[in-house]
Amino acid sequence: MNAFPSQSLSSLDIPTQFDIIVVGAGAAGLYAALCLPDRFQVGLISKDTLQTGASDWAQGGIAAAIDPSDSPGLHFEDTIRVGVGLCDQEAVQFLVKNAAASIESLLEMGVAFDRKGEKLAMTLEAAHSRPRVLHAADTTGRAIVGTLTAKVLERPNIQVLSGAFALSLWLNPQTGHCQGISLLYRGQIAWVRASAVILATGGGGQVFAQTTNPAVSTGDGVALAWRAGAILRDLEFFQFHPTALTKPGAPHFLISEAVRGEGAHLIDSQGNRFAFDYHPAGELAPRDVVSRAIFTHLQKTTADPADTCVYLDLRPIESERIRRRFPNIIQVCQQWGIDVFDQPIPVAPAAHYWMGGIATDSMNRTSIRGLYAIGETASTGVHGANRLASNSLLECLVFAAQLSGIEIESNLVSEESLPVLREKGDWGDRIDRIASVRQSLPSLMWQSAGICRSQAVLEEAIAQVNSWRGELSAFETAQYVLNLPPTQGVTFDLPTAEQQLRTAAETLNLLDIAYLMLKSAAWRTESRGGHYRTDYPQTAPNWQVHTLVQGDRWWTSPSSFVSD
Ligand SMILES: Cc1cc2nc3c(=O)[nH]c(=O)nc-3n(C[C@H](O)[C@H](O)[C@H](O)COP(=O)(O)OP(=O)(O)OC[C@H]3O[C@@H](n4cnc5c(N)ncnc54)[C@H](O)[C@@H]3O)c2cc1C
Repeated sequence: MNAFPSQSLSSLDIPTQFDIIVVGAGAAGLYAALCLPDRFQVGLISKDTLQTGASDWAQGGIAAAIDPSDSPGLHFEDTIRVGVGLCDQEAVQFLVKNAAASIESLLEMGVAFDRKGEKLAMTLEAAHSRPRVLHAADTTGRAIVGTLTAKVLERPNIQVLSGAFALSLWLNPQTGHCQGISLLYRGQIAWVRASAVILATGGGGQVFAQTTNPAVSTGDGVALAWRAGAILRDLEFFQFHPTALTKPGAPHFLISEAVRGEGAHLIDSQGNRFAFDYHPAGELAPRDVVSRAIFTHLQKTTADPADTCVYLDLRPIESERIRRRFPNIIQVCQQWGIDVFDQPIPVAPAAHYWMGGIATDSMNRTSIRGLYAIGETASTGVHGANRLASNSLLECLVFAAQLSGIEIESNLVSEESLPVLREKGDWGDRIDRIASVRQSLPSLMWQSAGICRSQAVLEEAIAQVNSWRGELSAFETAQYVLNLPPTQGVTFDLPTAEQQLRTAAETLNLLDIAYLMLKSAAWRTESRGGHYRTDYPQTAPNWQVHTLVQGDRWWTSPSSFVSD
């Protein structure tokens, strides 16, 4: 960093402070920003344009026990059963009891859920004992995010910074409180102060080669929080969705669970309906069971299981119903030459949802004062070892609503003017090397920490990932992410610098979450929920504990949780 101070940050058109910063503009971040008391000046930060997170892609819907034939008690039981002994009972109670209020609030804002006559229409999804999934065709997430975004843009106390990348957390060296973030924005790195920071950065599916997640899901919040010393929980638990479109050249577009809920069959290349050979609930068994059934069936029946797929046959569903319920799936399949009325869709499992994350309490507080986490980046305890379908959008909303009661200790200052370095931003072939690691990592993770895991393979992967982490963290680009002092801003001359630095930062984040996931997976010598070990295929009662990590300290938490 050969540079010289040139100008003060206040002249750079980047706000220097907010009362509260929300990082992430998915369902969790948007709803949080709306729930925060409007006396606070809120900065809502999104590394991309708005509406690019997983929330926008959610298809199936949002679970809520609001039908008279249903009850929060039944929703509680289903959630706990799928979480295989690791759900936090209090968190789940809180989720299911507050579901109705969240739906009410969405309806008031104008989210147009599908109706059957006057009543809200509800679908049955896997492992739910009642039809309780509200939907807006098969673009439920878009309907919710679109409405929340419009509301956010109307609010004078919320300033949206899109295309702004949170690089690191800013802790007060004396108190250890979180007092802001460093931000890569408009070719500069700025330090932005806040009395509270809320991480709502979503999941980390991009760490795997096969994923349903959007490009922004690089686990940034978990990586930032870990580097700042926050406690993380249950990072080995990742849910693999059984049915992502599998066609050469096509993205791993999710074929929603709701399709099986409506009656589609899973068949192999011979046309055999095989799911009942693996579980009595067949296609509607929990996701991990169906994913493993596909994986095992392909291993048994095909020469190269990695290269092939099974099929989802929608023909048992009435055509009119398919048309009404799945217009988006019909259209995307059509784009890839598949007529769902006439032929089955080629599908295979893909990484979908990260149950683990930053450990939080019922008020979304992390172990660092002033730092909060919500949505997929948090581990609130509601999902345990596996997530019940359509509970995650609900979790985003129910927990974000808690922020209406947030208390903050102001640490804002009246006038700030940090010195700023002027840099060229030219990192030459280092960037090619970073890009090549970024390309190799997801394949390694898919092979070693995907649907089936084992000790030797996990350990080999840890060694490889650690070697990449060591190599890349010595690069100059990494210094802006890992070691830039909070007394220093930076401005870059080259227009390419911002994109390159973002690639470097995301790659470092992916490497850190890969390391944490692999270590956690190697440590848990049993199979449970989304974590399956071929060398320890049974669920072990002594492992009914959470894995926690802070820095390089790992431990398990005694179970204040439900028993199997
Ligand atoms: C294809 C698909 C279908 C799904 N279907 C359903 C469903 O039907 N029902 C259900 O309940 N769940 C579903 N899920 C899961 C659910 O959508 C997600 O768990 C949930 O939307 C996560 O919301 P979020 O707000 O935490 O994160 P996201 O919606 O992913 O938003 C993350 C935000 O953080 C921003 N961000 C990330 N890192 C940074 C950074 N460093 N700096 C600044 N900004 C950053 C991103 O730009 C984005 O705005 C689905 C997921 C996928 C991928």
